[in-house]
Amino acid sequence: MGTTAFYSNKEEIYSTYDGNDLGYTYTPESTTFKVWAPSAEQVLLKLYSTGSYIENGAQVLGIKQMLFDAATGVWSASIDGDLNKTYYTYVIKTEKGTHETQDVYSKAVGVNSTRSEVVDLSSTDPEGWENDKHMLLDRPNDAVIWEIHVRDFSSSDTSGISKEHRGKFLAFTEQDTRIPFTSYPTCVNYLKQLGITHVQLNPVFDFGSVNEITGVEYNWGYDPVNYNVPEGSYSTDPYHGEVRIKEFKEMIKALHDAGIGVIMDVVYNHVFSTADSPFEKTVPEYYFRMQNGKFLNSSGCGNVTASDKTMFRKFMIDSLRYWVEEYHIDGFRFDLMACHDIETMNMIRAELDKIDKRIMMYGEPWTANDGENGISGEDCSNKTNAKKLSSRIGMFNDDMRHGIKGGSDDDSKGFIQGSTHSAYNVIAGMMGASSVTFGNWANEPSQCITYDSAHDNLTLWDKILKSNWCDDFDTTENSYIAQNKLAAVLILSSLGIPFMLAGEEFARTKHGDHNSYKSPDSINSINWTRTVRYSKLVDYYKGLIKIRKAFSPLRDNTTKAVNDGYIVYNGQTISLTIKNDTEDEWKMLSVIINNSDNPCVPQIKSQYELPESWYVIADGDKASDKAISKFDPEKNITPHSALIIVDAKSYEKINGVDAINEADDVVPDIQISKELMDLLK
Ligand code: CA
Repeated sequence: MGTTAFYSNKEEIYSTYDGNDLGYTYTPESTTFKVWAPSAEQVLLKLYSTGSYIENGAQVLGIKQMLFDAATGVWSASIDGDLNKTYYTYVIKTEKGTHETQDVYSKAVGVNSTRSEVVDLSSTDPEGWENDKHMLLDRPNDAVIWEIHVRDFSSSDTSGISKEHRGKFLAFTEQDTRIPFTSYPTCVNYLKQLGITHVQLNPVFDFGSVNEITGVEYNWGYDPVNYNVPEGSYSTDPYHGEVRIKEFKEMIKALHDAGIGVIMDVVYNHVFSTADSPFEKTVPEYYFRMQNGKFLNSSGCGNVTASDKTMFRKFMIDSLRYWVEEYHIDGFRFDLMACHDIETMNMIRAELDKIDKRIMMYGEPWTANDGENGISGEDCSNKTNAKKLSSRIGMFNDDMRHGIKGGSDDDSKGFIQGSTHSAYNVIAGMMGASSVTFGNWANEPSQCITYDSAHDNLTLWDKILKSNWCDDFDTTENSYIAQNKLAAVLILSSLGIPFMLAGEEFARTKHGDHNSYKSPDSINSINWTRTVRYSKLVDYYKGLIKIRKAFSPLRDNTTKAVNDGYIVYNGQTISLTIKNDTEDEWKMLSVIINNSDNPCVPQIKSQYELPESWYVIADGDKASDKAISKFDPEKNITPHSALIIVDAKSYEKINGVDAINEADDVVPDIQISKELMDLLK
């Protein structure tokens, strides 16, 4: 049988299977194993008492020949008795040789991933799990997403997390955590006050780049081994597969209890090691896109999975459903989503809709190498094809990102640093990439993820430092903070779904490291003391989130707000003015951003009648859902600052006439630490 050609989905060469029982089906009386391996000549089921060869004690408990069903390509075997916590592998003989492998459908594995484990999943539920509820929002645009790596969240001793939980899933479960010897909140305790609705977790499925025995290496984890298993290095015991499952659920429950949803970063586009992957060992050369005997590489990581083939597409759907149903995951961020075909992504949307339409889906609308994707450009889930995808499959708006701050890693400037030529991308992005006039690659604002920084590339703060070509930090830190604030306004006061890298709101630095995927904790860890040092910046983000929550057109998932909005740029300021029909909300809001070096009079335009008077709720200093002052149209907007104003009449109706918020929290001038000075050298 030749296996060198590229097989599209339409040219399946094997019998496929649509049952929902691949992997193991456990009862206390017996366990049934099923593996799809249509090209295998023989499959043996091997049972072990331990999860890895390095562990002592009795190991092989038994070997059983599995039976083949040619109609489905599935091999199966049943074993009597209670197999809870028994480890297993398959020994699969094909024309490519004989390989022992863990189960493609593993739900649990031993340390470092090579043996699967039968686990009675009901025994892994933490207390109260039956009452744990998904955190789902009516409109995806109601979300404010904060991207965090499990280890970065708590690995620093500034996190105040107990030593044994630092860098682990369980760090999320600690209550009332604070920076040691202070009252300043950290971790989930901090997030509860920030106002974000969702965390997006960098890979938490089992990945291969961190040795779970030593746990010393650092890695982001974009190197999947077992897609349906939580990562072992984040558990307190990577040896016993059931422990990480329980601890993962405890993390989810703690976040849900705090009112925060969980979005999982899923990396179905490639596997860690082609030859060692259970997919390749089980059905050689099936699960990956190939051309002339060569593994294609649109992921940039050595292989690309074949989402367009029946059994990998089914795997993705089964896997996603499993994370939703077993772990109560609330949404998914698809890594390199353009590696996946449109039909698959839309099918996934339809399958998740059967559970709940509010489960979020979005992804990176690009590959690492389009030339090696193995499917037609017309079939890729990229921005060009966005309109062929469901409006509830979002895409990161890299045009907006670029417009806001310039190139991700270079010293170029974007809108926040005063560039005028990037205004167009910013305007299109503020309209949720859904405006006919300014550019609409998206169907609707629900398809547009609005952001300026993520785990890849320089942090926003490091980019600001790099692009300002300044060697005198003392005199300019305030101007950097002003630029950071403008970015915050653009992310949080635009149409689309706002997304930020954890710590963007406290000037997170990775000390200029633009690709920290395997850099040490000293680069990647969240330094929680920055929440104090930059508390005024944090407060500014909090205020903007409150404004967003108070004015529903900013969260409109449809083009209604696009049509009710009016955006204008005069070479100095961008202003976006939106009318609001929602009962008991401010009737009109205008966001005005002056990115220039000069003060200028605000310019406000709308296709609707403008209010007679306005209140200012945000300026360059402060943002709040309470009025700061009456708006004076004659007064200039100071350079490098934004103004958000709302219709006075409706404001007074809702907030009362005496609602002007006295400047109650005057923050002292920023002190420059030596640490920060050193950073710039
Ligand atoms: Ca692992």
